Amino acid sequence: MIQTDWIADVFYDLLPQHGYEIREEQVYTAFQIATAMNQEKVHMAEAGLGTGKTFAYLLSGLAHARLTSHPVVIACASAALQEQLVGPNGDIATLSKILNRNIDARLAKHPSQYLCNVKMERINGLVGRDDGELTSVLGWARTTRLGERTEIPELPDSVWNQIAWDEFLSCDTCYSRGYCRLIKARTHYRGAQDFIICDHTVFFEDLWTRQDQIAAGKLPLLPLYSAVIFDEGHKILLPAAKAAGQHLVLDDLMDVLFQLEKIQSARPALLAAVLASEEALTRFQTTLEDAWINDERSTRLTVRISAELQAAAITLRRALQVLYHELVTEQALHTQSLPDIYLEIYGERLEGFDRGLSLFTQKDRQTIAWVERADRSLWIIPQDLGKIFRKYLFDIQIPVIFSSGTLSNAGDFSYLASSLGLDRPTNSRLTTSSVPSPFDYQNQVLVYLPPDLPAVTAADWFEAALQSLAALLQLSQGRALVLTDSIVEVHRIREYLGKEPLAYQVLWEDQADRSYLVQTFKDDVTSVLVGTSFWEGIDIPGEALSLLVIWKLPFPPSDPLLDAQRQTAVEKGLDPELTIDYPEMALRLKQGCGRLIRAASDRGVIAVLEPFSGRPWADFVLGSFPPDAPITDQLSQVNRFLK
Ligand code: SF4
Repeated sequence: MIQTDWIADVFYDLLPQHGYEIREEQVYTAFQIATAMNQEKVHMAEAGLGTGKTFAYLLSGLAHARLTSHPVVIACASAALQEQLVGPNGDIATLSKILNRNIDARLAKHPSQYLCNVKMERINGLVGRDDGELTSVLGWARTTRLGERTEIPELPDSVWNQIAWDEFLSCDTCYSRGYCRLIKARTHYRGAQDFIICDHTVFFEDLWTRQDQIAAGKLPLLPLYSAVIFDEGHKILLPAAKAAGQHLVLDDLMDVLFQLEKIQSARPALLAAVLASEEALTRFQTTLEDAWINDERSTRLTVRISAELQAAAITLRRALQVLYHELVTEQALHTQSLPDIYLEIYGERLEGFDRGLSLFTQKDRQTIAWVERADRSLWIIPQDLGKIFRKYLFDIQIPVIFSSGTLSNAGDFSYLASSLGLDRPTNSRLTTSSVPSPFDYQNQVLVYLPPDLPAVTAADWFEAALQSLAALLQLSQGRALVLTDSIVEVHRIREYLGKEPLAYQVLWEDQADRSYLVQTFKDDVTSVLVGTSFWEGIDIPGEALSLLVIWKLPFPPSDPLLDAQRQTAVEKGLDPELTIDYPEMALRLKQGCGRLIRAASDRGVIAVLEPFSGRPWADFVLGSFPPDAPITDQLSQVNRFLK
């Protein structure tokens, strides 16, 4: 195969010439990906930290793009990862220098990251003298060349949303297309020869609407591509689900109704429609509050879609439809009770809510709904995501590559595969590979399981775990990350740990901004960070993280997407705990354990304060520890290891 020959030349000749240390695990991963691409497979490539998986997929992807004359899409989980790839000193620029050839990689940002001329013009004449923030942003809007959100990061979202692209705009027929920065950006990235870099959301918003766009004679978000690589592939489920669903911010709707209610000289019919909508919305909100499951550990509160909730949604939908009709009439009558622009904007908003609510009210449609704890907004998405994945992604003959350090439970990929609808025996497209991290875990890590801790459900567990934690922190002199399973646990630990004066600073997740906490934890070497959202996404090499405490095992909470998977497992006659809860917990635990060793010179202890020996999930827990790491129940051994 030409690709693997070329990749071998790069790894064994070119990269060493440039001072790169080559690892067999990296070369193996690159070959696996290249082969999967060549054979148009779905491939899950798990490669532990430090393997160099980015170069592995970049080289395979580059070879594939050149061979097929179509770019490869790399869909990332975060903006930081995109920057790491396409930044001026990013991986693609580095590879380009090593290969001594131009690699044409372009960034496809989400449309909402761009200024919209039409919206800017709409509000331009309506901004009053006291609209300070809006006035200054309009000044920026007149002069910006790129019109990107990143140019004014300090601007609140609420202001940005008033001038940025949104899904209700009709870009295809827009009079300002010729001057639109978004359209220019699209035209630019559509011309990429080798790579298009986007985030998971952009990729799925394109994928789910692609066929409809093409059928309607419109350009889809992304151009024709020859393969897709998901960086952090274990994270695609949530953005894919959201891109397939509808998002309803009920507070926004209430705002629109309040604004309409304030119209002076509105026709009685319009006013009556507003009041009826407000009443219907209040009833819907009350019914919704009774329908969500308030699990304190979950950020997404599952909504039980009852007949009562559906009835409330139908009533609200009807009321909004009447109101929409009245707005159109108001505009047609030229009453001038409100500028036409506002009537247009409010009309678009009502249409959007109508679309979202329609998912609730279709009897034959299976949907999942949840409320975001943070802002109480409502998400409604199709239930059978696996079917959609198969139809639009896996049954289409293009290579699909998942790259991540955590795709399997001790080499078993079945959990992730089944959550993506890839578990059907007929699906022969799936191949997998797994290589461990090159780190010397046998000497770099010690796993400590305190003896004689009571069961986590016992009344005296908390006290005993706290004593164990205090003893460990004394040995480590701070330098610890404590991972809990809920913010309530963070509060409980603080209540007791905070009673005694401590020789080190303790940073609590709920008391400061996440990035500030992480930076302080890095800078103040003896500090301790306690939180529930640091199981992944933080990188603390060096001494500052020498002790990782797993306060409780991260069993998944009630979660709408997992609940749907649990239900599917039951329907298939499977044990939902064994097939969903334990593997999900194990993946999260593996990610958490991965925080400890970030460099070849790191050393540290993982202490698990929830006993699991003899429990049905014991093997899942053991499989999540760094391979070959010794396990002890002796505190004296921990003491020696930490010195
Ligand atoms: S093309 Fe779309 S985003 Fe651009 S100015 Fe027109 S409506 Fe706004």
